[in-house]
This record gives sequence, C-alpha cells and structure tokens, in this order.
Amino acid sequence: MRLPSFSKRNETGQSQGLVTISLITSLTLVCMVLVLAWGRANHNQEAELFDGNRLVAAASSELLAQSRLLKDSVEEMLDGHAPPETARSTFQNIFLLDLTDGVSAARLPPFAAPEAFEDFKAGAIGVLGPIRGQLTSGLRGAVGSDTGNGAGQGLAKTISGSSNFIMTDRGGFAVSIVPLSEAGRLGLPMTDARNRMYAVFAVRPIADTFLTRIARNSGVATLSLVKAPSTDPAASDVPIGADGQDVFLEWRADRPGDRLLGNIGSMLVSFAALFAGLLAYRSTLKLADAELTATRLAGQDALSGIPNRLLFTRVLDNAIGHAQRGGRGFALLYLDLDRFKSVNDTFGHDVGDKMIIAVAQRLQAKLRATDMVARFGGDEFAILQSGVGSPADCEVLAERLLATLREPFDLDGEEALIGCSIGISICPRDSSDREVLMRCADLALYNAKRAGRNRFAFFESALSDQVEARRSTEEDLRIAIENGGLELYYQPIVSVDGRKLLAVESLVRWRHPTKGLIPPSDFIGLAEKRGLILQLGEWVMRRACEDARQWPGIRVAVNVSAIQFRHPGFVGVVQKILNETGFDPTRLELELTETVIVEDADGAENAMFDLRAMGVRLALDDFGTGYSSLIYLRRFAFDKIKIDKSFLESMEATGESAIIVHSVVHLGRSLGLTVVAEGVETSEQHRFLQALGAHELQGYMFSKPVQPSEISRICAYGGVMPEPRPLDQVGDEEVTERLAGAA
Ligand code: C2E
Ligand code: CA
Ligand code: CA
Repeated sequence: MRLPSFSKRNETGQSQGLVTISLITSLTLVCMVLVLAWGRANHNQEAELFDGNRLVAAASSELLAQSRLLKDSVEEMLDGHAPPETARSTFQNIFLLDLTDGVSAARLPPFAAPEAFEDFKAGAIGVLGPIRGQLTSGLRGAVGSDTGNGAGQGLAKTISGSSNFIMTDRGGFAVSIVPLSEAGRLGLPMTDARNRMYAVFAVRPIADTFLTRIARNSGVATLSLVKAPSTDPAASDVPIGADGQDVFLEWRADRPGDRLLGNIGSMLVSFAALFAGLLAYRSTLKLADAELTATRLAGQDALSGIPNRLLFTRVLDNAIGHAQRGGRGFALLYLDLDRFKSVNDTFGHDVGDKMIIAVAQRLQAKLRATDMVARFGGDEFAILQSGVGSPADCEVLAERLLATLREPFDLDGEEALIGCSIGISICPRDSSDREVLMRCADLALYNAKRAGRNRFAFFESALSDQVEARRSTEEDLRIAIENGGLELYYQPIVSVDGRKLLAVESLVRWRHPTKGLIPPSDFIGLAEKRGLILQLGEWVMRRACEDARQWPGIRVAVNVSAIQFRHPGFVGVVQKILNETGFDPTRLELELTETVIVEDADGAENAMFDLRAMGVRLALDDFGTGYSSLIYLRRFAFDKIKIDKSFLESMEATGESAIIVHSVVHLGRSLGLTVVAEGVETSEQHRFLQALGAHELQGYMFSKPVQPSEISRICAYGGVMPEPRPLDQVGDEEVTERLAGAA
C-alpha cells in the first residue's frame, strides 16, 4: 500500500532514468521487507531469550536474599530473640518443620501453628530437594550426650538453605527452607530434639511490589507468576519453580522486531526506523545491563564479580528451554587457564587473584550482551554464546578468546603469560540436556588440553562413547559406594627401626566387577567431581574405625579429601562415627593436605580445633608438595607431618631432596611434631631417615598396603613386623609382584 507513492512519481516523471530508479527502489524495498520479516523473527527471539535470562537472574537474586534473611532470623530465634522486624514484615508465616519421618510442622512458639502449614505442604516437599544432601550427609542421626564440651563449636548454627517459588490454592509464594544443624537443634527446648531432623520454613506471598521489583530489575513490563504458560503468542514464559513444580514467570515480551516492522511507513521512514530501532534496542540492552549488574550480586562470583555457577546454570536452563521451543541454539564453552597454577606458585595468591579478575574482564569484553560468562571456581570459566547453529558460528569467538588471553598480563609490574584451552558443545546439536551438554563441553576441553593446550576443540559425536563410558563409570562407582564394592587396605606405619607396628594408613580400593581392583588415584578425583566423596569418605572412616577396634593400641590414619573436610557437617560426621563405632578418638588420625587449609583458613582452623577437642589427631599429608608454608605448621594444630614420598624417590638422584628431607625432619622435631616419612623403599633411605631422627616410617620396604586380616596377624604376634625387605635387595620379579599387589 505504500508502493503507489512511488508509482505516482513514475507517472509524473517521464524519463527512462526515473523508471529504472523506481524499479531498483521497489526491488530494494521488497528485499528489505523480506530481510526485515526475517530479522523481526530473529530479533524477537533474541530479545525473548535475553529477557528470560535477566528475569531468571533477578528472581534468583531475590531468592538468595530471602534465604539469607531467613538464615539470619533463625539464628536470632535460636538465641531466644523474636524474629527481626524485616522477617516479620517479609514472611507471612515461619514454621518449624520436623523432617524425621516425612514432612510435618511442629508446634513450638514463636513458630507459626502447624495447621496453617497444610496449604504449603506440597510445595515444601518440592523445595526440599536441593537441601536433601545437606540433611542426609551433614545432619542425619543423633548427637551423643557427651558432645556438650564445645565439640560442636565449629558448626554454624544453621547451614545454607534454599528458596524457590511455589503455587498454592492461595496464590504464588516465595518460600525458603533452612535446615537446623546439630548445634541448632540443641537450642530447641524439646526433649528428643537431638534425635530428629528439623528445618525452618518461611512463606512470603508474592505481592505486586515483589514482581514489579523483579520486572524493573530485569527491564521487562507486566510480569506475572502463573501455573501454566499462556497460549497467547504475545506472552513469553520462563520456568522458575523447583524441580517438579509448575511455576512460570510470564511477561509481555518486548518485541523489537515487531516494533521495527510496524514503524516502516515509507522508505525513508523505514531506514530511519531501522537505524533508530537498532540503536534504541542496543541502548536498552546497555541500560538494562547496568541494572542487571545491580541485581546480580547474589549470583556473583565474589572475586571477579561475574556470574557464578549457580546463576549460569539457571540461565543455561532458560536457554535450553528457549531452544526447545524452537528458538535458536547456543554454544556452551568451557574454558580452563593453561598455566594458572604456576602463576599462583610463582607470584603468590594475591597476584593469582588479580589475574582471575583480569581474565574475567578480558573475556567479558569479547562477548555480546546476549552472551554470558561465568566463573565456575579456580581457573575455570564457562561461556554461553547465544544464536549458534553450527560450529562455524563460534569458531570466531573461540579464536578471539584464545587471542585475548594469549596477550601478556601486567600484574603489579610483573609480566605473566598464560593462555587457555576451550571445549565447546552446541545445543541442540549435541544435546538438549543440561548435564549432557556440560559433560560434552568438559570432554571437548579435555581433548583440547590433550592436543597440546592453547586451542579449542568441539565435542564430536565420536566422543560420545567416551561420555557414555565415563557416565557408566560414575554410575558404577555410585553403586559400588552404596553396595559394598569398595575395600579398605591398610599399610603399616612402623617404628624407626622397622620392627614395631605403630599405626596403619587406610587406603581405599574399588573392586570393579569387570575391571578388577582399581587404585584410588583412578576414582577419588571422579568421586570429588561428582559429589560422591562425602559418602565415600564416610564409608572409609566408619570401616576403618570398625576394623581397627580389633587392633589394640594401633592408631588408624584416614585420608580426608579437601571437599570432605570443608563440608560444614564434617566434624559432626566424625563425632557420629566415633559414637556409633565406640572407637577411641585418640587412636584416630586424619590425614589432611594443604589444600584443605589454603582456601578457607578460618573454617579449617575452627574444624581442626573441634576435632582436637575430641581427641582426634591431625597429620599434614604430602608435606613438601604443595604450598608448604611454615606458617601452616605454626598456625594450625597439626600433630604430625608426613614427608611426601617424592622426596625420597628423588633423594638419591639429586642431593637437594636430601637437604630438604633433612631440614623438614629437623623443623618438625623442633616444633614438637611427629615426623613420618612415607615411601621408604631402600635400605639407604632407611639409614638416612634413621640418622636424621624421623619418628615413624612407612613404605614398601616394610609392607605394602594389605588386607585387614594381615594386620590382625601382625597384632597377634604382638605387633612385631616381619623382617624389612628393601626393594633394592630383592629380585626384580618380587619387586614387580610387590608393586602390583600394592595397587
Ligand atoms: P597418600 O595418602 O599419599 O597414600 C600413600 C600412597 O603411597 C598409597 O597409594 C600407597 O600405596 C603408596 N605407597 C606407600 N608406600 C610406598 C612406597 O614405598 N613406594 C611407593 N612408590 N608408593 C608407596 P594408594 O593406595 O594408591 O593411594 C594413593 C592416594 O589416594 C593416597 O595418597 C591418597 O591421597 C588417596 N587415597 C587413598 N585412600 C583414600 C581415601 O580413603 N580417601 C581419600 N580422600 N583419599 C584416599
Ligand atoms: Ca595419606
Ligand atoms: Ca601422602
């Protein structure tokens, strides 16, 4: 209908030139309309994804703030105070839930009456999911009556909870749940409080002001909470409920594509509108971005300020949903710095921290507003690149990211070079399942590193066998942990003359149905990565305490992974195992590595204090391989250091190691610590350690790790060890046999 104005010109102007110009203009216009129609759909989709991401971020931020408010309020309440004013004005009700058998509200002022809980019961069960792990690993079971001696001090009164949206017959609610730890339960004036599992549950009706705030913070208009996505094509939805809960945020999507098309009145106007529209769109993105930054805080990585894993996975879920509803796909990039550890070791942690911040900034500078970069922890980053259909779409970005991190970093005048490796998976090409996509990116990253680092690699379907194999290994391990597929071996730790059994170190093995006996180096890392280490560690400790009960006077050492030690329920778990097995705490030794301390020194110090108060002894394992700061030895209450076997291994080759061993033994002795050397294989090493004054020895020369029956046998001989057999004095065959048996 706008074309006639041009044909009129055609009638008035008689020259050929005008006809040609008109034709060209008309053709251009037709092309433009086509391009615009295509661009409109594209723009609308991108805008919808972008809005959805911002909404998820703003809503997560509200929920996290709410969790914190409840946690603080619960602490006040346990101290005997009324809930603070902000909690009273925010929450409609706060219930005390008894989770011992099912979920029910308990009657206890100042908590709300149980009757009012019925409306929320179904929703509460839905939001319990994320904290179930905390409840079962950290809080299960009773606390014995002899723990009132301050042993529980290291436990926070409450541990982190979870919040989510639920829909009830009475409308939408934002609910939070915070489990009560052992120490928290002790504050409850109930006779059997110690034997039960409790959590505090608070409900907050979704008022218009709440939704308006989320809408404002994410730059969308007319936001509502609904139980089912609307069929209205003008409405957009994003799921935000807990697993299995149908709750959606619904909004009128800003459709920049429609706006652009609607504004085309004439060719001139259309050009103007196109540019103006694009510019306006870009600037709203920027503005909204600034607001988003303010609301992100809760989903932010504390060090670098970019989104953290929690926020990233939520946005990832939104992008997957978007792709599943017919939107464009995206790429997931996993990025790992190549030489970060050496920067940390060479320049120290402060410089390492600056490096992480600088890396985050450089990465962010290379992304569009619709992309997102997050820090997953350590030197790991993840990027979501939107609007990707095929690998070619993200090669350019991957190259750019590699290039920007190859540039030297100037850190306090020191020039540092790093670089990175990138693994990429594409949704929906590789999968539309979050876990699978992440695993694909992880595998691609592994391949990029294996191919020599400083490069990117795509996930290839040929690798899916490997993914499958890994997944099945994980599944096998889970089954093994649950169904008794693990075995515990024990390696003697002997007196310095090698004659007397003093202690044993428990070392776990996995008896795989088809692959045979698997050494811990092949599965401890996997267990840590896949969240199985808590269960594994608990099994090991319980079994070690049970087995060692039959070995009077012999101490038992248990290796504790950093993840396990940092878990807020760890001290409670140790206490529980000691209570349940009746094992003497002074015979239990925990072997910790320096990584335990490095990341959270205060938390570690508290936990160590509590453990020592129980009588448990603490050994610093692998001394000499990590940061090995003498400060740790002074500040932290270790009883013992174990000199890493790598020093003994290289001692004969390089005189330097011998000097280190020499000074470590002297240092340990002068600090009043027991010094143990591990990995003693030859009589020369033995003589050297004897001369230096090491207190205890461990190594194949005295015994490889053996089954418990073997330790019982030695105990039956009064703890007298068989004759030491240095590896340099036995035949090669026997060495091979002994080494093989050790695994
Ligand atoms: P680690 O704590 O340093 O344990 C000592 C390792 O050195 C054991 O390997 C032991 O078999 C080996 N070893 C002992 N004497 C000698 C020797 O004379 N020469 C040589 N070359 N090696 C010797 P294993 O059993 O394969 O354990 C490897 C690592 O796996 C352990 O290192 C520990 O970090 C971890 N690990 C083992 N069991 C557990 C567990 O229950 N929980 C956790 N978190 N980690 C465990
Ligand atoms: Ca150890
Ligand atoms: Ca060790």
